[in-house]
Amino acid sequence: MAKHLVFAGGGHAHLTALRNIGDFRQRGYRVTVITPSPYQYYSGMGPGMLSGLYGPEEIRFDIQKMVEKGDGTFIQERIVRVDPEKRVLFLASGETTSYDVVSFGTGSTIPVDNLTLEKSERVFTVKPVANLVHARERILALIKQGIPRLLVVGGGPSALEISVNAWKLVQDHGGKAHITVMAGTRFLSRFPQKVRSLALESLTKRAIDVREDVHVTGIQGEIAILEDGRSQPFDVAFLGTGIKPSGLFQDSGLPVGEDGGLLVNTYLQSVGYSEIFGGGDCICFQQSPLDKVGVYAVRQNPILYHNLLAALEGGALQRFDPGGAYMLLFNMGDGRAIYHKNGRIFHGRIPFILKDWIDRKFMRKFQR
Ligand SMILES: Cc1cc2nc3c(=O)[nH]c(=O)nc-3n(C[C@H](O)[C@H](O)[C@H](O)COP(=O)(O)OP(=O)(O)OC[C@H]3O[C@@H](n4cnc5c(N)ncnc54)[C@H](O)[C@@H]3O)c2cc1C
Repeated sequence: MAKHLVFAGGGHAHLTALRNIGDFRQRGYRVTVITPSPYQYYSGMGPGMLSGLYGPEEIRFDIQKMVEKGDGTFIQERIVRVDPEKRVLFLASGETTSYDVVSFGTGSTIPVDNLTLEKSERVFTVKPVANLVHARERILALIKQGIPRLLVVGGGPSALEISVNAWKLVQDHGGKAHITVMAGTRFLSRFPQKVRSLALESLTKRAIDVREDVHVTGIQGEIAILEDGRSQPFDVAFLGTGIKPSGLFQDSGLPVGEDGGLLVNTYLQSVGYSEIFGGGDCICFQQSPLDKVGVYAVRQNPILYHNLLAALEGGALQRFDPGGAYMLLFNMGDGRAIYHKNGRIFHGRIPFILKDWIDRKFMRKFQR
């Protein structure tokens, strides 16, 4: 029987390999992709989609089509457990899939276990990015009825990009909204003071209220409960409180890093099982844990593609070199962006043109 390669998750880290499924098939391997949605949204353009700069179809990859075009099998499902000894994946439906080689690109989730959270149609985690499509619809409906209160919980780049792009959405539709960012201890605390000042200045100009030293501990109905006992009412809340891998690896008894991510060596290979690989946010790179940014998922693409093929064929594996500093560009929702790399920081229209160009180029590469 032909060896079976399984991709767990259709995320950014897998795109090159998924585009080359035909190559695996021509060499005689069976290929299956298991992921919960036929589409993968490109997070770099997610906030721009919230504002209306891009349509949802412009920022998503049709993973199912990509897989089927390469003559692979697409399974729309979530993996809930792995038996690494028997080489079996357990799916949410109760079905199982066995593998010879598996690659995990299951990304990360917004941890909400530290919040007392009632399930509500007015609360959106910023991941998966598809949530932003529904948040956009809800905001558009609310501004027709009045002045909604938009709450962004989180103090990192996604809280920044979501708040300013929600502002843009409201502006472009002639509406009004009260936008509040509950930033935890300090807004953009991991970034140089200049990035923080530029961002805060831009938010203040737009009357976006950024609150520091304030922690949301729970959400009940339309009220956010704060650590000091106060409350903050809202009509739409976004949760962007950081990201971490799901408990899948820990629950399956696989070796994991501090954050629960699949612990991998320099070949992006599980330190415990040589037929298990992984990339993107769901791994912990043993040599030096990496930031959870798409930049690394993208840099890992060619290595994963090569190493999966090598694992099937018994060839030599390639090492992943994380590379040097990476560029960050924050879409400020007003045709401007903040650029940050190696201590160089700029704010303006040119950084935005650069971001838009890079993002569209990336989409073109994998949307074909
Ligand atoms: C709003 C926002 C904006 C961002 N902007 C940027 C940016 O501009 N630049 C940047 O570098 N980074 C950015 N990031 C970070 C970036 O999104 C991640 O680093 C990147 O998506 C990680 O890619 P990945 O392949 O690990 O996972 P993802 O691309 O998230 O894909 C994971 C895939 O796995 C699937 N999956 C999840 N669980 C399972 C399961 N149990 N079984 C099967 N499939 C599963 C998911 O449905 C998804 O298809 C942003 C993040 C957010 C939230």
